[in-house]
Amino acid sequence: MKEETRLIQNILSDPLTGAITTPIYQTSTYVQEAPGVHKGYDYTRTNNPTRKILEKIITDLEKGYKSLAFSSGLASVDAVLKLLENGDEIVAVDDIYGGTYRLLNLYKKLGIHTKFVDTTHSENIISILSPKTKMIWLESPTNPTLKISDIKHISESSKKVYPNIMIVVDNTFATPALQNPIILGADMVIHSATKYIAGHSDVLAGLITVKNPDFYEKLKYIQNSTGGILSPFDSWLTIRGCQTLYLRIKKQSDNAFKIALFLLKEKSHLIDKIYYPGLYQHKNHTIAAKQQLSFGGIVSFSLKNDTIENAKKVVTSTKYFKLAESLGGTKSLICHPATMTHKSTPLEVRRKTGIQDSLIRLSFGIENSEDLLEDINNVLQ
Ligand SMILES: *Cc1c(COP(=O)(O)O)cnc(C)c1O
Repeated sequence: MKEETRLIQNILSDPLTGAITTPIYQTSTYVQEAPGVHKGYDYTRTNNPTRKILEKIITDLEKGYKSLAFSSGLASVDAVLKLLENGDEIVAVDDIYGGTYRLLNLYKKLGIHTKFVDTTHSENIISILSPKTKMIWLESPTNPTLKISDIKHISESSKKVYPNIMIVVDNTFATPALQNPIILGADMVIHSATKYIAGHSDVLAGLITVKNPDFYEKLKYIQNSTGGILSPFDSWLTIRGCQTLYLRIKKQSDNAFKIALFLLKEKSHLIDKIYYPGLYQHKNHTIAAKQQLSFGGIVSFSLKNDTIENAKKVVTSTKYFKLAESLGGTKSLICHPATMTHKSTPLEVRRKTGIQDSLIRLSFGIENSEDLLEDINNVLQ
């Protein structure tokens, strides 16, 4: 059975009534026959049938052992970081998601330090590993400059030196429909399911999929201890949203590719840099082509007239692209990282990671590409 079919088959009908959709088990507790004798559910923080179906779906999509659903992407990041102890070290991709960066700063207080490196060259990672390094944190593609790291090469070469090192991949941008990090050697995959997986900009959710029972038992214990679980209703919304993941990401990737090419060919007099892993000009295009099924729904670009004012003019003039943070929904969004998502990133870090004053990020929705193209064409005159 192929992925798209399995995804739909995993959305089980209700054994009690035959209801074709997964019911929302909106309950905190469950009646027991005798103390400890129950149908596998005793309290919703520990287990809930709606959440369990979502966890099964994502395990299957990511080709892992088991999964856990959290109340947000960052709650799932936090659970993974709790696997570490005082004195442990993390090596992480330098243009990591801003919220993860902020959280890693909190962990510094607990004696867990992070070294940030440009992971687009695998050697940069391998050369700074030490016996203290317990975790490698990757995102590929990254936000907002779509940097690509070679997940397979990094996993293999680092585990050759330190077999117990944990490889974690934040797969939010690629989605399991385009990239399966566990197959490429990762131990854990996390998602902000808020973005593509739920896909309709109506819920916050986080997911972890692990490769083996050991990580699962530890993370299940952490989740039950800290309580940041996904509610039954939000689990249901995520199940509902993810049914169309393959259809949406295909359309979103097609839209992104078309407009990236248009910007490259027709707007070169206005545009300084274009970031899209599907373009031959992209630094790690061949790695993206090797590890991803297609190139995703995000395109970023900067302007030759590299000022905040100039970028603001563009992001406030589009008709269909709505000015908003977040990404991955059905509606196309436009965003100005320097004054929005990356406002709190220090200027020197922004400069180093390529977030120019005029950088603009497009998150493609599922609208018709001709309309989106016309919209962009009108504002870039
Ligand atoms: C949004 C995002 C997160 C955080 O997820 P929330 O659901 O907002 O908590 C983590 N990683 C990446 C790459 C993201 O885009």
